[in-house]
Amino acid sequence: MEPNKDFNQFDIPLAKRTYLDNSNSILKKKLLIFSPFLLLLFSIAALRLTRNIKLEPLVNLNFQAEISDENRILGHLPYTEISKEKLVLIEPNIKVHIDMRDSLLKMREEAKRDGIYLVFLSGFRSINLQNDIFFSLKSIRNQEAAERARVSAPPGYSEHSTGFAIDIGDATQRETDFETEFENTDAFRWLTKNAAKFHFKLSFNKNNKYIDYEPWHWRYEGSIEALKVFETSNRDL
Ligand SMILES: [Zn+2]
Repeated sequence: MEPNKDFNQFDIPLAKRTYLDNSNSILKKKLLIFSPFLLLLFSIAALRLTRNIKLEPLVNLNFQAEISDENRILGHLPYTEISKEKLVLIEPNIKVHIDMRDSLLKMREEAKRDGIYLVFLSGFRSINLQNDIFFSLKSIRNQEAAERARVSAPPGYSEHSTGFAIDIGDATQRETDFETEFENTDAFRWLTKNAAKFHFKLSFNKNNKYIDYEPWHWRYEGSIEALKVFETSNRDL
């Protein structure tokens, strides 16, 4: 179709003039033919975009998991040493975080009323002491660090250096101190039933993929500071 010659083309705004152009209608036909393909392309692009948006949180979660795994040494999480001012003596050789003292002593009292005698074996341990424990026992037992780490934390990676961890035994069955057999004692059964009331929690249960089961090792989660200290550990399990 020829454009109308009588029309003064220059009176028509540019947009309208091109609309009258013959080549434009060919372009429109081409567009009609190709429109399903364009629609398909658009759909693929939109789908990819929404998939990317949905994937984003998953990627972030994986990233967080990688970070906490990177912080571990032989499966143990890092813990800083508590300042000396926050430590109190509860037994001749046992110091704990002042925040957990009352709860811990109350727990022992209540157990005694039920005829159960809890004995505290180990509380706060400095990073220096943990260093001695980890490296000297390692050589005595002829174990490689990775094996040793299943039963003892490397220095700087022990819950004991926070002052919020306590190893507990049964005063009537001392042969089970620091042994898996402690789980068969009345003390352990009592703790399993009652420790949560006093904000104590078993740190390394049977499902822990890095560290061997330690029925004697309990940690305190009865203050915001304690919860913060064990936040990563609780998130990972
Ligand atoms: Zn312990």
